[in-house]
Amino acid sequence: MSEAFEQESINSKELDFLSQVSIGLTQNSEPTDIIEAVSNAFRSIIKLENLNIYIYDENTQTLRDYTKSWIVIDEIHEKKYTEKLYQIVKNSKYDDFLINDNTINIKDFWDINKYISTRKNTILFPMMKGDNPYGIIELIINLTMSDILTIDFFKALIIASYQISLKIQNKVLADKMQANIDFHESMKNIAKIIETQYDLSYIIPLIGEMIDKFISDHLIYIFLKQKGSFNLVWPMACRDTKILEMVNNMSTDTQYVLADDNKIGLFPLVAADSSVLGVIVAHSHIDKLSQREIDYIDQLTKQSSITIQRANMYAEVLQHATLDALTGLNNRRQFEVRLKQEVAMAKRKNHPLCAIMLDIDFFKKVNDNHGHAVGDEVLKNVAAIIKSSLRESDIPSRYGGEEFAILLPYTKLEEAATVAQRLRSNVEAKHVDLTGVKDAKISEIQVTISVGVYEYHEGDEPQQLYTKADKALYFAKEHGRNKVIINRG
Ligand code: GH3
Ligand code: MG
Ligand code: MG
Repeated sequence: MSEAFEQESINSKELDFLSQVSIGLTQNSEPTDIIEAVSNAFRSIIKLENLNIYIYDENTQTLRDYTKSWIVIDEIHEKKYTEKLYQIVKNSKYDDFLINDNTINIKDFWDINKYISTRKNTILFPMMKGDNPYGIIELIINLTMSDILTIDFFKALIIASYQISLKIQNKVLADKMQANIDFHESMKNIAKIIETQYDLSYIIPLIGEMIDKFISDHLIYIFLKQKGSFNLVWPMACRDTKILEMVNNMSTDTQYVLADDNKIGLFPLVAADSSVLGVIVAHSHIDKLSQREIDYIDQLTKQSSITIQRANMYAEVLQHATLDALTGLNNRRQFEVRLKQEVAMAKRKNHPLCAIMLDIDFFKKVNDNHGHAVGDEVLKNVAAIIKSSLRESDIPSRYGGEEFAILLPYTKLEEAATVAQRLRSNVEAKHVDLTGVKDAKISEIQVTISVGVYEYHEGDEPQQLYTKADKALYFAKEHGRNKVIINRG
C-alpha cells in the first residue's frame, strides 16, 4: 500500500464497506455473484451505476470481462476505450489509476476532485498480482455537485481491489485445476470408448464435445476423409471457406499445423500406416492457442485416430454382420431386413404383426455420471432382459445407441401391449450389477425405459411400422417416461 496512507486509520463507513466486500467474496464463487456482492458493497458508500472487472489473460494477452463469460473487451468497447484499458495493465505502476481519462497517482488524492464531474464518472482502478497489474476494476459512479471523493474512499478501494484480485486469482487457479482433472477423466473415457465402440456416429460427437469443453474459446471442427476428400462430420456446418481450403490442402501432413498467428490449429488424424484419416480443426478469430491447448488437442487427436481407424476396420467387417457386437441382438441392418420380410409375410398370410420401440430414459446421464463402461453394462443388461422376456418367434434388435426395436409376428395389439408392460417393469425392477465393471464407483444401478407399441395396419409400408411405434415412444418420453404408450392410429 502507498506510504501516504500507512499511518492513517480508516473511517468506519469505509471499514463497513471493506467488511461487506470480504463477506461478499467469501460467500460467493460464481463471477456474476461476486460482481453483485461487490457492487452492493460499493453502493453502501457511493452512488454506483455500474461495476465491471476486467482480467488480463497472459496466455492470449487480452483483457477479458470477468462476468460476461470471459469475452475479450475488444468486443464490448470502442477502440479508444479499449486502448486505454490495455495501457493500464501494460504500463500502470501499482498506485496509478484513471479517473475520467486523467491518470492520477494515488499520492495526489487531494487533487482528485478537480477531475470529477457532476453526474457520470468513470474510475479505472488497477488490480494487482504481486507487482504487476492483473486486471482493472471499472467503476461508473454518479456524483452530484456536493459529493466529493474522500481519501478514505481511495484507501478502501486499494484494499478492496487487492481482495478482489486475490479472490479471482484463486478462482481461476481452482478452475484450471478442475479442468486438468476433467481432462484426465476424459482421456480415461476416450480410452474406454476405444476399447468398446466402433460406431462413428456415436464416437465423433463425443470427441468433438470433449475438445470443445477444453478449448472453449475456439470453434472445433472434425473432418473425415471419405472417398478421397475431406468431409465435415462435426458439427453440422462450417461456413469458413478459409478453413475448408486449408483442410483440403492437408493431404499428407502427419504433424499438426498452426496458422494465422496460432489462431488456427489443424491436427491430422493419422492411421498406423501414416495415411491421413481426417483433420480436427480449432479456430478462433481472436484467441491464440496456448501451448497447453495445443498439447491437449494433439494428444486427443492421437487417441481419436486409433478409435476412428478401428471403427473404419469394424465398419468393413460389419458390412456382412447381422448381430450387434455389444448386446448380441440383431443389428440395425438386420432389423431392416427382417422388417421387410415380416411385413410381407403378415400381408400374405394375413396374420397380425406388432412392433415395439423402446429407449432407455436419461441414458446420457448414466454415461455422464458413471462413465461409458457403466453405460455399456446397462445396455447389455437391458438387452438380456428383452431377450428373456420374449417368445422364440419375436425378433429383438438394437436399433441405435440405446434404442431397441422388437418385431412380434402373430401378435395382436393387446398382447404386444402386455409384453411391453412386462418389459418396462422388468427393466425398472432390475438392479444392474456393476461389481465387474472396471473403475465403476457404484456397485449397482437402476434404469427405466419408455416404450411405444404399434400394430401393423393393412396398407402400411414396412417403415411405417417402425415410425408409428416410434411416435408412441416419443409421446411416452414427453409424458413422463417409464411408460408404455400404444399408437392405435
Ligand atoms: P431420453 O430419456 O430423452 O431418451 O434421454 P437420453 O439421455 O436417454 O437420450 P439421449 O439421446 O440424449 O442420449 C443417448 C445417449 O446414449 C447418448 C450417447 O452418448 C449414448 N450412447 C449411444 N450409444 C452408446 C453405447 O454404445 N454405449 C454407451 N455407453 N452409450 C451410448
Ligand atoms: Mg434415451
Ligand atoms: Mg435415444
